[in-house]
Amino acid sequence: MTEANATTEDATAGHTAISIAGGGSVLRPLKAAEVVARAVVRTIRSEGLQTGTSLPSEAEMLRHYGVSRESLREGLRLLEVQGMISIRRGPGGGPIVGTVDSANLGRMEALYLHLAGATYDELFEAWVFAETTLAGMAAANPDDEARKAAMAPYIDGHVDDVVHDDLDVYMSGHEGFHGTVAALANNRVFQVTFRSYGQIVAHHLAMIGDVTLIHQELVDDHLKLARVISKGDAGKASALMNQHLTRVLALNRAQLGSLLDGDVEWI
Ligand SMILES: [Zn+2]
Repeated sequence: MTEANATTEDATAGHTAISIAGGGSVLRPLKAAEVVARAVVRTIRSEGLQTGTSLPSEAEMLRHYGVSRESLREGLRLLEVQGMISIRRGPGGGPIVGTVDSANLGRMEALYLHLAGATYDELFEAWVFAETTLAGMAAANPDDEARKAAMAPYIDGHVDDVVHDDLDVYMSGHEGFHGTVAALANNRVFQVTFRSYGQIVAHHLAMIGDVTLIHQELVDDHLKLARVISKGDAGKASALMNQHLTRVLALNRAQLGSLLDGDVEWI
């Protein structure tokens, strides 16, 4: 592992990446803003608050948590960046409960990958590993009814059968299938962390690529995947997912070429 942790030269740009630390920051003391962010999250969980629910006003939170206005706002901002809350500005505004979204984890992760000098090849390797694992786990889910119900819309062709002109809509549709597969894997740790790789890839492609060119092939892939996951064939599901992503990667390489030779960008 010493080699991986050593400072590495970025051959393409001649810039030196930052070496990955051994994890010594685990016991770093929390700042006041981080403490209040955790307190807000504890409140959300203990009261079972759902996405879209209003949180108490700033005045109430200041009284309740006993911190400075600056620390409270900084703490809320930390949660806002992660999408865990959103803050409506102006009169009648205030914080509301957000979502748990791997896309936000992916954005944070991309920062780490960029500074560490990780390459797109490394990202794609992790993505294929993650998605093939999730597909196998989804097919191995012992709940027959859950598998069939989750995959039915893709088999019936009602979901992503439309070629979208709008890349955003297209990407969210494509990611929706992969998100559904990940949910069937029945392990929230894998679901959140493994999906973040796909979210980084999706975000990058939405910014610089065009996967709409092979839309129909991807939809056909999803249909085949949905069938084998519905049947519960884990080995076939992993193999098909691997083929599917290989196809997506081949297109990206053809389109993006040398862009993919550099380090993962933080965009
Ligand atoms: Zn797909």
